[in-house]
Amino acid sequence: MSSFKVVIVGGGLAGLTASLHLSKYGIQSLLVEKEEYPRHKVCGEYISNEVLPYLISLGMDPFSYGAKKMEHFELSAVTGDSCMSDLPLGGFSLSRYTLDAALYEILKQKEIILLHDTVTDIKFHGDLFRLELKDKGTVKAKFVLGAYGKRSSLDTKLKRRFMNSSAPYLAVKAHYKGDYPDNVVGLHNFYGGYCGVSKIENGALNICYIVSYEEFKKYRNIEEFEEKVLFKNKFLKNILLNAQMLFDKPLAISQISFESKSLIEDHVIMCGDAAGMIHPLCGNGMSMAILSARMISDLLVEYFNAKSMTREQLEKKYRVLWKKAFSSRLRTGRVLSRLFEYKQLSLFVINYLKSYPAVIEQIIKRTHGKPVESL
Ligand SMILES: Cc1cc2nc3c(=O)[nH]c(=O)nc-3n(C[C@H](O)[C@H](O)[C@H](O)COP(=O)(O)OP(=O)(O)OC[C@H]3O[C@@H](n4cnc5c(N)ncnc54)[C@H](O)[C@@H]3O)c2cc1C
Repeated sequence: MSSFKVVIVGGGLAGLTASLHLSKYGIQSLLVEKEEYPRHKVCGEYISNEVLPYLISLGMDPFSYGAKKMEHFELSAVTGDSCMSDLPLGGFSLSRYTLDAALYEILKQKEIILLHDTVTDIKFHGDLFRLELKDKGTVKAKFVLGAYGKRSSLDTKLKRRFMNSSAPYLAVKAHYKGDYPDNVVGLHNFYGGYCGVSKIENGALNICYIVSYEEFKKYRNIEEFEEKVLFKNKFLKNILLNAQMLFDKPLAISQISFESKSLIEDHVIMCGDAAGMIHPLCGNGMSMAILSARMISDLLVEYFNAKSMTREQLEKKYRVLWKKAFSSRLRTGRVLSRLFEYKQLSLFVINYLKSYPAVIEQIIKRTHGKPVESL
């Protein structure tokens, strides 16, 4: 049975970042990812510049893959009333198809071990983990990072409490050939949800929306839902009617929730969405995934190289750092999502923001941090 210092479960942004970070400091990890790269993922594909210097220091410069620089933010209400502001930090748009695969290619060059398999169970006993893989047997590890995203059967195995709550949202995404300014991220409200719009590499348009299942299930299918609900917002109607889909059919995922989660479960240290998911309308889940991976990687480097920390101290430090960095963002995200759930309230808020665009920048700042230093 192979044994590793660190096994990372899930090769999305958090997992890929953590394995690259650890390898930079000579800590060999095993990354287990159940899917192949490249693959499309339901995501708004806008990333705040908070993580740009760090990504570049890991060898990934998004602009060399055609990322579009995002400078402005446009918000519209169900009625089509809209307002515009600058993005205080700025950001970029790049598809997950390209971003995750680019990180994977860097990882391959560094000879980091990646297994394409599914982790089916994790047990902690006698200061060691034992992980069961669907096809490739069992591995042992000193530390396990749970970077397996927002919801997995592993959460049930680990008896995580948030799995008892409902997960009432679903999301739909596709790429299109269509018109939209190159440097604007749009967030367009419709009854029951919001739709993010931005240009990505190759000039394609990413259109991704999240909606409550209660609303969506009133319609027969995605086409009918878009026509009867999204089209009520004149921005969305105009964009979608004039765009040609580049996918055979849209991608859809369900069972999305924004419940609080335990950060560490039976010593498995969670990062990215597995630790907590911010509402996509804040547009920085990817930054949070990357930053939390950096946070825990820094602590693991300290643990293995300085040897001056116990497991308990490492876990305690991670909890403190994570909460300091993300708790207030998550709270703001929850408040915002509730505000926008009510048609009249969201209309009132957008009309207010129209007169005071500086307030939008303040709200964006509350859900984002300062750019983190490169390595
Ligand atoms: C509708 C929507 C729109 C969004 N828009 C934006 C946006 O515009 N900007 C932004 O910053 N964020 C956005 N987000 C959030 C962002 O997508 C996530 O925060 C980010 O993907 C989290 O990264 P992660 O690495 O934690 O998880 P993921 O990227 O989901 O990666 C988890 C990985 O784990 C693998 N995995 C799962 N279980 C196992 C297992 N048992 N064994 C092995 N592998 C496993 C999966 O295959 C997956 O590759 C959006 C999210 C949604 C739902």
